[in-house]
Amino acid sequence: MALEVIALGVGDAFSVKHHTSSLLLCCDGAWLGVDCPDRYREALESAARSSGRTLDLGAIDDMLVTHLHGDHVNGLEGIAFWKHFVEAKRLRLHLTSEARAEIWEHRLRAPMERLWDGRRFIEMTFDDYFDSRTLSWEEESNIGPFRVRIRRTQHHIPTAAIRVEAGGRSVGYSADTAFDHGLIEWLSAADLVIHETNFGPAHTSYESLATLPDSFRRRMRLIRYPDSFDVSASSIACIAEGEVLIP
Ligand SMILES: [Zn+2]
Repeated sequence: MALEVIALGVGDAFSVKHHTSSLLLCCDGAWLGVDCPDRYREALESAARSSGRTLDLGAIDDMLVTHLHGDHVNGLEGIAFWKHFVEAKRLRLHLTSEARAEIWEHRLRAPMERLWDGRRFIEMTFDDYFDSRTLSWEEESNIGPFRVRIRRTQHHIPTAAIRVEAGGRSVGYSADTAFDHGLIEWLSAADLVIHETNFGPAHTSYESLATLPDSFRRRMRLIRYPDSFDVSASSIACIAEGEVLIP
C-alpha cells in the first residue's frame, strides 16, 4: 500500500479553530505519528470521522517528535500513561539526541516519575514508559517501512525537519522553522512538501513561501497556519484537518 499522510491537526499553539498540528503516516499497515500535541486521542477520533479511516491508538506504537516545544510534545505524558496502564506497552519514541538529553529531566519526570499502586509509591524511569530511539543527523533511520532523514531547522531550540520515504513515495515536513532556502531545497527532494507558516522570527512567513516557483508551490501544502490566515486567498494549498494526503 502507498504512503499516506493524515493531518490530525493543522493549527498552531494558540488556535481555537483547529487541533494543534500533527501528522500520522501510514504504509503497509504500519503507523508513524509525527509530533504529539495535547488532546491527541480526541484529534485521532476526529480525523477518523472526517477521513473515514480506522485510526486506533493501539496500532500507533511509533511516535517521532520534531522538538520539545509543548505544542509538539504535550500529549506524550497522556499517551505514554495510556500505553502503560491500558495497553501494558512502551511507546517507541524517535527523537534527536538533543531532545533525548532533555525530555525526561525537563518535561516528563515531575508528573511521571512516581506512581502510587494503592499500597506504596513506585519509582519509574524514562525507560519504563518509552523505548527511545535516537534519530541520526547524518544517516537514515529505519522505522518499520519508513526511512527517515532529518535536518536542523532555524528555530528557538534544536528542531528536526524530516523527510520520510516509504512504499516508493516520500514526504518532507519542515517542522517549526524560520524561512530557510537550504531547508526548502532539502525538502524539495520529496514528492510532497508540508511546510509550516506562522508569525515571528522563528517561523516562516507566508510571504516568503509565496515567492517560491509555481512548480514547487504545487507540490507544497501549508500547515500550522494561524487562525487569522486567509486559506482561500493562499497561493499554496492549505491542509484541512483530517485530510488524507497521498504523496
Ligand atoms: Zn517550536
